[in-house]
Amino acid sequence: FDIGQIRNFSIIAHVDHGKSTLADRLLELSQTISKRKDNKQVLDKLKVERERGITVKAQSASMFYDYKGKRYLLNLIDTPGHMDFNFEVSRSLAACQGTLLLVDAAQGIQAQTVANFYLAYGQDIAIIPVINKIDLPAADPERVASQIEVAFELPASECLQISAKSNLNVDQILPTIIENVPSPSGNINKPFKALLFDSWYDTYVGVICLMAVIDGRDKIVSAFSERRYEVSETGIMYPEQTPSSSLQAGQVGYFVLNMKALSESHVGDTFFDHKHIGTPMPGFTPAKPMVWAGIFPIDTADFEKLDHSIAKLTLSDSSVVIQKETSTALGQGWRLGFLGTLHMDVFRQRLEQEYDANIIITAPTVPYKIDYRDGTQKLIRNPTEFPDLDEVNAKVKSVQEPMVKSTIIFQNDCLGDIMVLCGSRRGVQLEHTYLDENRVLLKYRLPLAEVVTDFHDELKGISSGFASFDYEEDGYDDADLVKMNITLNSKPVDALSIILHRSQAETVSRDWVKRLKALLSRQLFEIVIQATIGNKVIAREGLSALRKNVIAKCYGGDVSRKMKLLNKQKEGKKRMKAIGGVEVSQEAFYDFMSKK
Ligand code: GDP
Ligand code: MG
Repeated sequence: FDIGQIRNFSIIAHVDHGKSTLADRLLELSQTISKRKDNKQVLDKLKVERERGITVKAQSASMFYDYKGKRYLLNLIDTPGHMDFNFEVSRSLAACQGTLLLVDAAQGIQAQTVANFYLAYGQDIAIIPVINKIDLPAADPERVASQIEVAFELPASECLQISAKSNLNVDQILPTIIENVPSPSGNINKPFKALLFDSWYDTYVGVICLMAVIDGRDKIVSAFSERRYEVSETGIMYPEQTPSSSLQAGQVGYFVLNMKALSESHVGDTFFDHKHIGTPMPGFTPAKPMVWAGIFPIDTADFEKLDHSIAKLTLSDSSVVIQKETSTALGQGWRLGFLGTLHMDVFRQRLEQEYDANIIITAPTVPYKIDYRDGTQKLIRNPTEFPDLDEVNAKVKSVQEPMVKSTIIFQNDCLGDIMVLCGSRRGVQLEHTYLDENRVLLKYRLPLAEVVTDFHDELKGISSGFASFDYEEDGYDDADLVKMNITLNSKPVDALSIILHRSQAETVSRDWVKRLKALLSRQLFEIVIQATIGNKVIAREGLSALRKNVIAKCYGGDVSRKMKLLNKQKEGKKRMKAIGGVEVSQEAFYDFMSKK
């Protein structure tokens, strides 16, 4: 294939702006897939993805297209549309020379449109603005085109206006790509060199690596990690894996290298001809898990099974980091690191749906850094590891928390409320721009910890669902943080410890203690619930003892009824966790953990 007739491109968009629909239309147009009536999206494979309407794993597809008497090979690299997966967007973009920036004609520019634009802009690739959904009654393509000009300095007149749903003007897309996106610049006569930009685990063949071939045309590659691999299969995604005898410079395709584990495939790795190992291309810094949570089986007997399920699930998602953890309250479990809270939710949902797991997941924690006066440093991923107040006072030089730079886009009328919300979350305003007379773009610097809890929900509440939000990491800042412990009858419940900003300690303590009281059921003894910081009690609630005894009812009654009741009680207990000598129902704990 002449490299001049290859185009590698992606589609970037805010979630729901129609990326998957457009991808399907392009695959149909190029006859890669036949037209479907059920409107099932070909590129979104996982069940959770469909349910949540998000693409978690980037998927790529190749198509052939005839234009002006020539046959072109077009490689579409799908990208995820959610902020937790920005890392996957940038690695997908690294394999492209151009991208379609898709914007909904009714909604206009949203936060992820801005974030994704800058990711593409930073990669120096051709950006083609496309306004989608022009069939909608509320569509205002002219207004959106002018927003695009204001926000990105892309001429409004150059925006394509399409409807992916009704197939209007979709036929303009591929010609525009061919005309405006440069072909890849590799050399077919040079030794093999390829960039690994995605990989996943396939139950039948093992690890599959998606690579962009930069130079050469060969089948035998070896990693710069100096491990040699034999290629057992290579081909293109058409749109399923379709073997071909070789892949050449400029092509994007998959390689089966007989890797045993996904951890062997380092995204950003360069592969060379084993006789011509050169300088690796700039790789990607691996995604750092920024949200950590403990996962525990509700029934300790499920530990082994859950261990297997988690191991299996992480085979297909190498961005989850696992370590074992033991909690005095919840027993043996794991501490898992995720890219963000959506990533965490998706993982939990897959664990429950695909592996039938019954779990408790603790409140998420961001990674904190502690600098001690003696020069040592500690990274905290679990609130129980956070030094107590005495230790902080005696030994700690500074505590630092991760920060983010966030973009929020919304209608002008909620400006005041949104600024109040950001202020209450310790945010500092960086930018305030009008995209048009009533669309506002705000940039705030905020502590990540404030963002991973209910910030997004609050934002949606204030704006009746219309504000959009995205963020990127922005280093660490010093912060005045304390650890709050919860005790039940003076026994600390480690799984309920959290790290708080000192200014919020009192409000949160009171709230937690009140909510715990409401969720715990009365038992045969009094329960005292306390929130403490250091050895100071910040909030306290008591739950009086229950007098009624289940058995009392049966005195004089027949034995079988008594046995039945006792068994019923035992069954009820299976769903309970004894925490600090206090029985806490699974539902209560779960409710408590899921509401921040
Ligand atoms: P993605 O999240 O960007 O992949 O968006 P999807 O392709 O899943 O589309 C989100 C929703 O918008 C779906 O319900 C689509 O049917 C709908 N949609 C996509 N394109 C159009 C369009 O051109 N017009 C209209 N009216 N709806 C569209
Ligand atoms: Mg999609």
